[in-house]
Amino acid sequence: MYDYLVVGAGPYGAVFAHEATKKGKKVLVVEKRDHIAGNIYTERVEGINVHKYGAHIFHTSDKEIWDYVNSFVEFNNYINAPVARYKDELYNLPFNMNTFSKMWNIKTPKEAKDIIEKQKQEITGEPQNLEEQAISLVGRDIYEKLIKGYTEKQWERDCTQIPAFIIKRLPVRFTFDNNYFRDRYQGIPVNGYTELVEKLLEGIEVRTGVDFLENREELRKLAKKVIYTGPIDAYFNYELGELAYRSIHFENEILDTDNFQGNAVVNYTEREVPYTRIIEHKHFEFGEQEKTVISKEYSREWKLGDEPYYPINDAKNNELYQQYKALADKEENIEFGGRLGEYKYYDMDKVIRSSLDFCKKELK
Ligand code: UDP
Repeated sequence: MYDYLVVGAGPYGAVFAHEATKKGKKVLVVEKRDHIAGNIYTERVEGINVHKYGAHIFHTSDKEIWDYVNSFVEFNNYINAPVARYKDELYNLPFNMNTFSKMWNIKTPKEAKDIIEKQKQEITGEPQNLEEQAISLVGRDIYEKLIKGYTEKQWERDCTQIPAFIIKRLPVRFTFDNNYFRDRYQGIPVNGYTELVEKLLEGIEVRTGVDFLENREELRKLAKKVIYTGPIDAYFNYELGELAYRSIHFENEILDTDNFQGNAVVNYTEREVPYTRIIEHKHFEFGEQEKTVISKEYSREWKLGDEPYYPINDAKNNELYQQYKALADKEENIEFGGRLGEYKYYDMDKVIRSSLDFCKKELK
C-alpha cells in the first residue's frame, strides 16, 4: 500500500512526490503521457533543448524557491527579452523606452510619459477589461500595434472580454530595460527542465502512459491518499460542464541555418499572421550549433482530447471552478493541486510554492 498516489508528473506532483519521499512516505506517481515533466518537458534535438510545450523561462522573487530549484540543477543566466514584430516593424518588449522611442521617435522618458498620459485620457475610472487596462497603461498606439492582435489571437476573444489582470503580467518602464520580468531571479536549467523533474523524482516509482481517470477504480485502491494534478473538471467527468482552457499547437522545424531570428522569442502581434510567436530554442541557452530548431505557436480553444495549457480565469469560468472546488472539498482522501487542479494561471515558481506550502500542511 502506498501512502500517496500522485497523479501527474509535472512540477506540482514531482515536488510533492519528492518531499513526501524525503519524509519517509511511500509514493507512486502515475502520468498519462509517455514522459515526465508535464508542460515543462524539454527534449534534445540537434543538441538543443527544445521546450516541447512552449517556452518556459523560470523567474521568481521568492529566494526560497530559487534556492530550491538550484539545489537540483544548475540554471543559466538567460534573461527574457522578447521582440515584437508588427508587420515590418520590430519593437522591444516589455513596454519600455526602447519601445517608445521606436514607436514615437522620441528620446526622453518625459516625452514618452506625456504621450501616454494624453492617450490614456480616454479611459476614465477603474479599467474593466484588458482593453481598458492596456490603454490606461500604455495608450492606444501601443495597444493597437502590440497588444490587441496578439491578445485576441492568444485568447480568441475580444480584448473587452478578457480580464484586466492578464496584461498586468507585463511591466511598463521608462528606462531602456528589455528584461520581460520584474523578478529578482531568472534563468533556465542548463540541461533542460526534464532533468530538474528527473532529479525531483529520483528513486520514486513513476509509471508513465497511465491514465488515472481511465483506471481510477483500481489505482485508487493502491494508496491511502491521492494528489491529483489533472484538470479538476475532468476528474468529475465534466458533470457541471466544461471549464474553458486555451490549448496550443506547435509547428516545429529544424532549419539549416545557425541563427534564424536572433532571439529566443519573437511575438507576431498583428492579427493577420496566424501564429502568436516563433520560439528559437537555442537562444534560451546561448547555443552555437550549426542548425536551429524553431517552433511556431498557434493558440486554440481547448476541446476534449487536446492538452489544456491555460485556464481562462474570467468570471464565468472562475464561478464554475468554485462549484467544482466545492465538490472537491467533499471528496475524501484526495487533494487537487497545480495549474489544472486549481484552475489557475500559475507561473512555475508559484506552482512550486503552492506545492511546498501544501507539503508543509500535509506532511507533518
Ligand atoms: N501581450 C501582448 N503583446 C505581446 C506579449 C504579451 O499584448 O507581445 C499580453 C497579452 O495580453 C497576453 C499577456 O500579455 O495574453 C501575457 O502574455 P505572455 O506572452 O507573457 O504569456 P505567456 O504565454 O508567456 O504566459
